[in-house]
Amino acid sequence: MKMRLIALSSLIFLMIIGCKENAAENVVEEGEADTPLSEQTNEAEKLYSIFPKGEKGPDKNFTGNAYNYTMLMPDSTYTTVVGNVYFEPGARSNWHTHPGGQILVITDGVGYHQIEGKPVETIRKGDVVKCPPETKHWHGASAETGLQQIYIVPNTEKGIVNWMEAVTEEQYPK
Ligand code: MN
Repeated sequence: MKMRLIALSSLIFLMIIGCKENAAENVVEEGEADTPLSEQTNEAEKLYSIFPKGEKGPDKNFTGNAYNYTMLMPDSTYTTVVGNVYFEPGARSNWHTHPGGQILVITDGVGYHQIEGKPVETIRKGDVVKCPPETKHWHGASAETGLQQIYIVPNTEKGIVNWMEAVTEEQYPK
């Protein structure tokens, strides 16, 4: 009788633990508890992130929240910087140039890339974008969906980035 009681208590305990684990796995934003994960609007949860989120970029160079994770620093053989930026919806870089050019590899989400004087290009998961050396441009997320981008900046002996003014609300697509 006592053994049965212990066994029953253990079972109930395991069931409670099991429920708690399930609850922890399904953390959702307030007000979205009944919405399936695939339909939630919280892009930070929805976008697939290969790399750590990294550090928030400074307000003087970005509008909104953009997070940089540097993967590779340049050395004398590979004069190249490689990293990942996660742009929250609406976040974008200031206008800037790269003296040695830049390649972007979009791994998730939807965003924009614009070279000064040219139309805004929509960029999305799977796109690869080349930005020529010394060419003024900006890149970032769309207003509704965030963006995960890997950046490759070669020829760092010429410099990495020259920051300029912010992209205005008028310049940013609605
Ligand atoms: Mn750039």
